[in-house]
Amino acid sequence: MSLSASGLKVDVRSHAKGTGIPRRCRCGEGSIVRTSTTVTNPCRLFHCCPFGSKENNFHLFKWTDESMFDEVEDIEIVGDKI
Ligand SMILES: [Zn+2]
Repeated sequence: MSLSASGLKVDVRSHAKGTGIPRRCRCGEGSIVRTSTTVTNPCRLFHCCPFGSKENNFHLFKWTDESMFDEVEDIEIVGDKI
């Protein structure tokens, strides 16, 4: 009995390339969700690092709605391969 069927392969690419909802900042701190208070993006949710700021873009910053969109896109790509 063979288990080498290509359709059974699990694709974990989405997390390796850093798309989707970010769980962790590159500094090692876990991500938190905040609400934007800027004029351009009022009340928009974003994932960020607790140590980050507008002036320091070393730390994590990603809009939550864009993260959701990435996750959905990845699911569709994996689905096509199988
Ligand atoms: Zn950080």
